[in-house]
Amino acid sequence: MTIQAIHPSQLITAEQCASCGASLTSGYYTLLDRPERYCPNCIATRPRCDCCGAPLGSTHWRLHDGRNQCATCHNTAVYAPNVAQRVYDETVAEVIKQLGLTLNVGVAFRLVDAPTLQAFRTQGSELQPDDVRSTLGLYQRQGHLRIIYLLYGLPLLIFRTTVAHEYAHAWQGEHCPLLEDNMLREGFAEWVAYHHLKWLGCTKVARRMLYSQHPYRPALEHVLSLEQRLGIQGVIEYIKRAE
Ligand SMILES: [Zn+2]
Ligand SMILES: [Zn+2]
Ligand SMILES: [Zn+2]
Repeated sequence: MTIQAIHPSQLITAEQCASCGASLTSGYYTLLDRPERYCPNCIATRPRCDCCGAPLGSTHWRLHDGRNQCATCHNTAVYAPNVAQRVYDETVAEVIKQLGLTLNVGVAFRLVDAPTLQAFRTQGSELQPDDVRSTLGLYQRQGHLRIIYLLYGLPLLIFRTTVAHEYAHAWQGEHCPLLEDNMLREGFAEWVAYHHLKWLGCTKVARRMLYSQHPYRPALEHVLSLEQRLGIQGVIEYIKRAE
């Protein structure tokens, strides 16, 4: 006869607050699509992760620009410029392979901190001011320079999604520079990010984009409805001709 050892924490984890470890005797809160449970006190009083909004636990990180990072976000965060460049290159190569969105003139990549991104964001010569994604990344064209800026410390999937989104803007800059319809501009960029997630096999995260509270969700839905009518290549041709 064998006896299977059960580690106590495996039995009680689900009944404990993921932030402070207290027993969840008086109810708990969860965040959308996340398994962790939090006690009412931590939800009300703890500082939050600047990336995902989770209450910070005793283990968390403070980035040099003041952002707080929870352990979950930290686990896959992209901090090093050389790693960021590699993931950026991979993401762009995959978007090109999947959707054929090639550029004639290349676009440079820079990993920056929050104040630097904010500075570029507000000085941006050709920035669409209502691009809410631009808190995480930014595409800018200044004269002959084309640059994609990404915030350092983003969890890997958010990093990739943001690269795909900004790369789509770089592509628009070449193929439909007159496109002003924000629903199509941002909807297409989100659509490229959405397809990149599906390409990576992250169908759950992709599906989350369809019922998130994100302000670009209606724009994404609009482009997905175009895809239903026109197909993937049809959407790309449609965007090239749109204004
Ligand atoms: Zn708690
Ligand atoms: Zn987090
Ligand atoms: Zn955008």
